[in-house]
Amino acid sequence: VHDDAAPDAWLCAREDAPPARRHAQHKGSFGDVLVLGGATGMTGAALLAGRAAIAAGAGRVFVSPLGEAPLALDPQAPELMLRDADHAAALDWSTLTVTCGCGGGTAVRAVLPKALGSAGRLVLDADALNAIAADPMLQSLLEARGRRGAPTVLTPHPLEAARLLALDGAQAVQRDRLGAARALSERYRCVVVLKGSGSVIAAAGEAPWINLSGNAALATAGTGDVLAGWLAGLWSQGLEALPAARLAVHTHGAAADAWVAAHARPGPLTASRLIGLLAGDAP
Ligand code: AMP
Ligand code: MG
Repeated sequence: VHDDAAPDAWLCAREDAPPARRHAQHKGSFGDVLVLGGATGMTGAALLAGRAAIAAGAGRVFVSPLGEAPLALDPQAPELMLRDADHAAALDWSTLTVTCGCGGGTAVRAVLPKALGSAGRLVLDADALNAIAADPMLQSLLEARGRRGAPTVLTPHPLEAARLLALDGAQAVQRDRLGAARALSERYRCVVVLKGSGSVIAAAGEAPWINLSGNAALATAGTGDVLAGWLAGLWSQGLEALPAARLAVHTHGAAADAWVAAHARPGPLTASRLIGLLAGDAP
């Protein structure tokens, strides 16, 4: 629907479910996801993203922490395959990679050239975006990715978007959210999810979408990591980047709306609880 308040945009009020599973499909039909991230002290971000990708129905999910002491197992999600950096280097990155909780250190700058150079689908979030914003060489790699047509989704919050656009602070983005999302999608020829209340989903050359679901219960640590993994897990199942991003953003917000509707005094929604809701638990 178009709306008078936002004549340049589509409003995203409802989304279809991911494609139904056919009777004889196997895990290879639903794609692999590699979660790259979890610097020392940020391991939880990578695990949340990995768990969300499992909840979305990805076939197999690998997590490769960038920190020094990779876990052997996530007891909350033993489905996740945790790989150290050497094993991750041997993995096929041509499927789908998502960065999460990479920290501001050298580790993320070291892996980004390979991730940006891959032909596979790529979701870039958080510190990976900050690293790109700080490094013209990484920016040219991302631009080259767009020119090659390698599919990419960026999921910045307003401050991360401001850094990428070399604007002075999040407010500069908030004043023109549609314009900021559009500018990034045009520059990098990719899909951009500009997060926050009324997330904007923009793809190069198309009118942007404004998502209508979601509420401030989502304003807790880790919900952005959940979105990145949830989006990756949906995208791995055969959707195009733009519908996958719209579906992910809308259902992520709708889970929070169901949570608020179900509780007389809803508290903040923890990221772990959000994954449960996305997986179909009752709110
Ligand atoms: P991050 O900023 O990376 O932690 O991501 C936070 C996630 O929660 C994003 O998906 C935001 O769109 C969502 N979120 C946070 N606050 C709100 C809000 N007030 N209304 C709707 N969504 C929100
Ligand atoms: Mg974040």
